[in-house]
Amino acid sequence: MQKRLLIVSNRLPISIEKNNEGYSFRQSSGGLISAVGAYLKGQGAKVFSEKLWAGVPDCGEDIWGLASLNHTGADYDFLPVFTSTGDYEDYYNGFSNSVLWPLFHYFPSLADYRPDFFEAYQRVNQQFAEKLSQVIHEGDTVWIHDYHLMMLPGLLRKKIPGITIAFFLHIPFPSAELFRVIPRAWQKALLEGMLGADLIGFHTAEYVSHFLKSLQLSIGLEHEGEYIAHQHREIKADAFPVSIDFSLFNSAHRSKEVSAAKDKYLAIKGDKKMIFSVDRLDYTKGIFNRLRAFEHFLTTNPAYIGKIVFIMVVVPSRHSIFQYSERKKKIDEFIGRLNSTMGTISWQPVIYQYDHLGFHDLLGLYMACDVALVTPLRDGMNLVAKEFVASRNDKMGVLILSEMAGAAFELTESLLINPNDVLEMAEMLCVALEMDPVEQGQRLSVMRERIERYDVNAWALDFFTQLSRIKERQKKFD
Ligand code: UDP
Repeated sequence: MQKRLLIVSNRLPISIEKNNEGYSFRQSSGGLISAVGAYLKGQGAKVFSEKLWAGVPDCGEDIWGLASLNHTGADYDFLPVFTSTGDYEDYYNGFSNSVLWPLFHYFPSLADYRPDFFEAYQRVNQQFAEKLSQVIHEGDTVWIHDYHLMMLPGLLRKKIPGITIAFFLHIPFPSAELFRVIPRAWQKALLEGMLGADLIGFHTAEYVSHFLKSLQLSIGLEHEGEYIAHQHREIKADAFPVSIDFSLFNSAHRSKEVSAAKDKYLAIKGDKKMIFSVDRLDYTKGIFNRLRAFEHFLTTNPAYIGKIVFIMVVVPSRHSIFQYSERKKKIDEFIGRLNSTMGTISWQPVIYQYDHLGFHDLLGLYMACDVALVTPLRDGMNLVAKEFVASRNDKMGVLILSEMAGAAFELTESLLINPNDVLEMAEMLCVALEMDPVEQGQRLSVMRERIERYDVNAWALDFFTQLSRIKERQKKFD
């Protein structure tokens, strides 16, 4: 064991906090961090002797200098990449979240194809390449994450041709017809950037086939199955559905804090049924249609009036982008109207929180609810769905899941719905609330086994196994 792994993501998985002694570090949370962090603690610790995480910190160079005098408490070291505020704004809020995010989630009308956004995206990807090339040695493995850094594999490959590079996309890759909506030069830059990697990972086989089709359509590059020959190298594109730390969620019921949180929510629930949803405030998450479906359900099933409560947690996200802040207002208004027209002094149909939940509360809610309602209009994977299933050690509860989420390919025993079909969602709520406990247990058991088998460690192991295989194949190709 002598290998070094460099993980690269837009943000460093840490935030800087000011306190009485100066500055200290706090581990951040989120899907990518949970998945990669769990691997680094488990299998990754056995394979890689040294781990370094590169990304943009949430502070300037001066504060980073002061904070880094303290120990971070993480299992890896950090490589901060500093960018100017203007470049970061246009690269992050601009190209990443106002072009790639809407387009890749099938909202082309929300994309803003500004050339200055693309220029900033190129510049920031270049800054990452420069910073990394100062520390990379031959023999290192570089694992680049997500849509913010699609050009980085190609830029790094140019600087250090012999290194091992893997790229993983955490959002959907859209159909080739949609991908080619963006200007041709950008299509080429993004695809050729990704092709700098040896292995390109996606959540589902469908996203892989969209990518391969885009190579044909946008840059005339053919493939043989999942293999692509490009600039005298063989590259593999494959599906690796990202997973969760199953044992963490499965054993959470044993934690005192989780039990206390669960009891707190069971007390709120009383003798009513409880529906739970949690997601970032994002137009891809289908929050409106979900609320409309709940309203329709109450209207068509008056027997449930006063006997059900919908706990909806919305986590603040990207508020500096107009499409996001606008939605917050509309959701507030919708819930206000629904509660005032259908509720009474002693009963509120929707209990709404606009704030992040900590682990114990999140688990308490997963375990206290009768139905988890996960209805994104489009989602690369959706970890909340998997976490809910894994946390139901009691084999009770029903998952209603959008067929537009990557997770729907694996969680086929959930109640699958079309998130645009408000009537179907309302009907499915009835089915879920009236489902026999034996059937609940049967459905959950199959899904739980599947997640346990392909947990986050299996996901990363599968990814790194495929990476070694493609490196072996490349030797024969040379
Ligand atoms: N999460 C959390 N607290 C919250 C809401 C979400 O810790 O209040 C975590 C959740 O456990 C999950 C992740 O954030 O691991 C959300 O991942 P998902 O794939 O569902 O959605 P994303 O936000 O990445 O689009």
